Amino acid sequence: MIDPDGRRPYKWKLPYSDSAVGEPRWRPPYPPGDPRHPPVKARRGHFDHVRVGTRAFSAANAFATVRCVLEIWEHYLGHRIVWFFRDREHRHLELIPRAETDNAWSGEGFLEFGYSIPRRRGRRRSAPAWLCENFDVVAHETGHLILKSIIGNPTASKKTLEYRAHEEGAADLVALIACLHFDHVVGRLLANTRGRLFSRNMLSRFGEASRGAQIRSAFNSATIWSPSVATAEAKYDTHAFSKLFTGGAFDVLVEIYEQYLVRRGAIPAGLARESKSAIAIAIDRASPAVTHRRFRQLRRTFAVHYARAPEKFRLALLDARDDFGHLLAKTWARTSVDDFPGRDRPHGNERLPYSGVVANMIAADRALGGRYGAIILAAFRRRGISPRPGRS
Ligand SMILES: [Zn+2]
Repeated sequence: MIDPDGRRPYKWKLPYSDSAVGEPRWRPPYPPGDPRHPPVKARRGHFDHVRVGTRAFSAANAFATVRCVLEIWEHYLGHRIVWFFRDREHRHLELIPRAETDNAWSGEGFLEFGYSIPRRRGRRRSAPAWLCENFDVVAHETGHLILKSIIGNPTASKKTLEYRAHEEGAADLVALIACLHFDHVVGRLLANTRGRLFSRNMLSRFGEASRGAQIRSAFNSATIWSPSVATAEAKYDTHAFSKLFTGGAFDVLVEIYEQYLVRRGAIPAGLARESKSAIAIAIDRASPAVTHRRFRQLRRTFAVHYARAPEKFRLALLDARDDFGHLLAKTWARTSVDDFPGRDRPHGNERLPYSGVVANMIAADRALGGRYGAIILAAFRRRGISPRPGRS
């Protein structure tokens, strides 16, 4: 953890990454003699004396978030994560809580975070909102490093759109699973949705209010035939292309959760069958009026069951979170850079995107007892993604 001062005329350190292209222009380590703030000191092992809004708070919060996300994912992986950039000169991850950028960056040996200036009523500017204080953003960037450490990190020119987009989506899932480890988040999510997670909610929306333009919904109906996905592919837009994978994975999580709800007697099996993902609703092709009516009916029915046994809903969500976390960890452990040859490569044109990683997910599920194979197949097939033959 280093909290550097900026060099004039900048108040904050210039980022390692060039904001325009996202490529690093210099690398850690931060020069040892350059100006920096002293480390935040613990009082009897605690940091709760640190005041919100201070630099010290930014630093302590960023460090705590990265540590927390790492511990959660090391638990699911079953081993310590060795950084992909680790060598004799770069033994540690350098964490910069405040840098002169409007984005958050992860790279070889560093994580660093900038700020946005929220506008109030059109013109009055308020204090900067530091991205290092947004759990989703820090967890997502940590996710990039975890994924490169497990799957591999080819040179920039070898990274296909599919490789990059999978990492974007997977980093969102790393953050999603991590935030479900907070009782407050789980409680609020279930209270707001009355337990109906196939909806737009705080879990299915990423990076809320942090990077306005980059809010993505995991509750989406993107398929390989969607015009927005074709445009994302043509424009090499990794975030938009990731929706396909994240959407399918989110559907798997919610289907697992609803299976637990039925098993715990929280909802009848018929209600779980009626509760559908965004893509399943789109495939039904019902009129907007009919879809709306079904939605209202589902919301009311879920509310009745939730009011009877909120604790069963909470336990079902925690079970689903852990099964899904283990499933993803085992999937990624089986995944390598070769699983993302990309359609932009020679001989790759006939391939479906994400077919390698979906095949790995089915193999991972089998290794974990084979409970969710049918759910995984259905969730991705609806989006036009079939597992690569020969691997599942
Ligand atoms: Zn990202």
